[in-house]
Amino acid sequence: MSDSSGPGPGGGETPRGAAFFDRDGVLNVDRGYVHRSQDVEWMPGAIEAVRAANAAGLIVVVVTNQSGVARGFYGEAEVEALHQWMSEQLAAEGARVERFYHCPFHEEAVVEAYRFADHPDRKPNPGMLRRAIAELSIDPARSFMIGDQLSDMIAGARAGVASYLFEGGDLARLTAQAIAELGLKGV
Ligand SMILES: [Mg+2]
Repeated sequence: MSDSSGPGPGGGETPRGAAFFDRDGVLNVDRGYVHRSQDVEWMPGAIEAVRAANAAGLIVVVVTNQSGVARGFYGEAEVEALHQWMSEQLAAEGARVERFYHCPFHEEAVVEAYRFADHPDRKPNPGMLRRAIAELSIDPARSFMIGDQLSDMIAGARAGVASYLFEGGDLARLTAQAIAELGLKGV
């Protein structure tokens, strides 16, 4: 996805905060290896959550482990096509995701090209978040990560962002809490 014109992510500007969202189990219901648009069921409050982060001036980034690629269930092209579709669905509702990052690697990959033990991008490692921080000029101190797994919490902590565990329910509510707590920190 390319950047829009005007102030925004990219080189040079004052770093902005970001809302990092895990995908499966956070933005969409985790049905196991979701890779087709017809299998995407948005989580309650997901679209509103992205919109609220946008309105708070945060860059929205999705970071998702996709070991289904390593396992040979689907290819990276399908992951990218799905993310394009999700982006368009959100945009139609006035919600903007700046970029999706996915990690296709897994130590037990059947597809050899993706066999990699403890890949730096695979959460709980923070590689995807760190890349986003560098590429999109993000200030970790003004950022948070919302995920549904312990590995998301650890990845967030390792990247230096506040982490929030989503245990189901309304994603917009937890996102509003995270935004409010950023404000309380004075950032
Ligand atoms: Mg998840």
